[in-house]
Amino acid sequence: MQAPVDRAWLNGRVFTGTRFAEAFLVEGGEVREVGSDDVIRRAKGAGADVVDLRGRLVIPGLTDLHMHLTDTVLEREGVDLRGARSREEFTARVKGGLARVGEGPLVGVGWDASLWPDGREPTREELDRMSADRPIILFQVSMHAAVLNSAALEASGIDEGSADPPGGAYGRTPEGRLNGILYDAAMARLETSAASVEWVRNHRAAYARLFVEAAAMGLTTLCPVLASPAEIRTVSELATEPLPVRIRFYLDLRALEAVSALPPPPSDGRWRVTGVKAITDGAFGTRTAWLDAPYTDRPDTAGFPIWTDGDLAEGLAAAAELGLTPALHAIGDRALARVLSMLDHVRVSGTPRIEHASLTPPSLWPALERQRPQLVVEPHFVETDRWLVTRLGPERARWTYAFRTLTDHGFALGGASDSPVEPLDPWTGIRAAVERVPRSDFGRLTASERLAPIEALQLYTRNSGPILGEPTLGCIAAGGPADFVVTSVSSLDAALAAGRFGIGETWLGGRRSFPTVAA
Ligand SMILES: [Zn+2]
Repeated sequence: MQAPVDRAWLNGRVFTGTRFAEAFLVEGGEVREVGSDDVIRRAKGAGADVVDLRGRLVIPGLTDLHMHLTDTVLEREGVDLRGARSREEFTARVKGGLARVGEGPLVGVGWDASLWPDGREPTREELDRMSADRPIILFQVSMHAAVLNSAALEASGIDEGSADPPGGAYGRTPEGRLNGILYDAAMARLETSAASVEWVRNHRAAYARLFVEAAAMGLTTLCPVLASPAEIRTVSELATEPLPVRIRFYLDLRALEAVSALPPPPSDGRWRVTGVKAITDGAFGTRTAWLDAPYTDRPDTAGFPIWTDGDLAEGLAAAAELGLTPALHAIGDRALARVLSMLDHVRVSGTPRIEHASLTPPSLWPALERQRPQLVVEPHFVETDRWLVTRLGPERARWTYAFRTLTDHGFALGGASDSPVEPLDPWTGIRAAVERVPRSDFGRLTASERLAPIEALQLYTRNSGPILGEPTLGCIAAGGPADFVVTSVSSLDAALAAGRFGIGETWLGGRRSFPTVAA
C-alpha cells in the first residue's frame, strides 16, 4: 500500500482539541506541526500538497468510546421495533420482518412495552403464533432484556429445567413455565450460541458498511464493548484492507479464556484489544440498575448486582495478567459504590473505566475522588430518559448524568453512544450534553449540568485518547495520527447545528475515509 500524500492544510479554523490554530502539516500519516499559516508554509516539504481550507472548521476525528458493534449491525439488519406504540404495531412489524427475511432466524431490536397501552411485556406464546419453527429473538430497547420464541429458546439450550444464572433471570409465568423473556446475564447464552456466531460471519459486509457509515459521521475510532470473539475475528478478516475507522475492542470479560485464540492485532493499530468489559448492574429502563434505595415507582425493588464480588475480582485479576484495562458498567449508585470500593483492593491494568456512572449523588464523591477512574458517559441518555424523575424521584434524578458537576470535580469525561441503545451519531450526543432537553421536567431539574459546546466536543475528542491509553488520539497534535474532520462550516456553533450533515471530509491516518473514492 502506498504511503499517504504529505499535505499542508492552510487558512482554516483548526480546533486541535484544546485550542484553535490556522493550519497544520501532515506527513507520513501523522501530524507533523500545528500553527499559523506562515509557520506551516515554512515547515512543509517541497513535494507536499497544499490545501486552502477557506476558513472552514477542522476538528479532531471523533471517538465513540462505548458502542455495541454486533448489536448495532443487528439493529440495521434486523427488525426495528423502536417506537412501536402498541402490541398490535409490534406484532405487525415482527410479521413484516419474517416475511421480508424469508428464512432463518429473525432478530429485532428496540421494543418497549412501557409505551403500550397495556404495558405487558410480549411473551413466547405470542411469538410462537407468528412462527413456530424459525427462531425469533427480540431485544428490549435497553438491551438488558430479550423475548424469545420456543424455537429460539431451544436453539440457545434453554429449557424448563434451566436455573437462573447469577445476575440474570429467565422470566416465568405464574405457573412457573418459561415465558420467553431473558433478563441481563441470562442473555449471555445468546452471544455464544452457534446460531449467533454463524450470523456474525454471514454479515461481514454489514460490518464493513457500518464502518463507512461511522466515518461519514466524523468518527475515526470506535470502541466495541462486550466484544465477542466472533466479532473480533470478523473485524480482523475485514482489516486485511484499510478500515475507515480504528477499532479498540473491550472483550466481554466472560469470554476472557478466548483471548489466546484471537488473531494477532496488526502493527499499524487499525484494531486491537484494549480492555475487558463487565456489566455490574442493569439499567433504569428495566428497573434493574442497582440502587441504594428502592425505585420511587416500584418500591418493591432496588435493582440487583450482576457478578458476585468474588467472581468479578477473579475476572479482573485475570484481565490484569493479560494487560487488559477493565471497563465496568455501573449505572445505579449502589453499583457504582460497590465497584469503587472493590477497586480499593483489586489490582488492575491501566486506569479503570466506569461505564455510564449515571447516578453520582454527593455521597459518592469521596470514593470517586479517591479512585479517580475514567468515566465514560452517554449524553444522549438525557434525551431518552426523560421519565427518570418518575423512576427515581426528584432528589435522586437531580444527580443523574451530572456532567457539569463531574467536569468541575476534574473528571475528563469520555463520550459514547452506547449504540444501538442510542443513535451511533456522535453529534446527537454532543447536542444533548449542551441542551439537556430544556422543555422537559427532567431537563429543567438538571439544567445546571449543561456543558459548553467546546466541552461537549471534547468528550468525543481530546478526552478519549488518555482513556484508551493512547494520549495522541483525539487531538490534532504534532506526533499524533492525522485523524481529523474537515467540516463545511466555519464555527463550532454552526457545526453543532449542522451535526453529521456538516461533515465535509473525514481523514484517518492521513488518508480520506469519507467520502470514499472508488479505487
Ligand atoms: Zn453499553
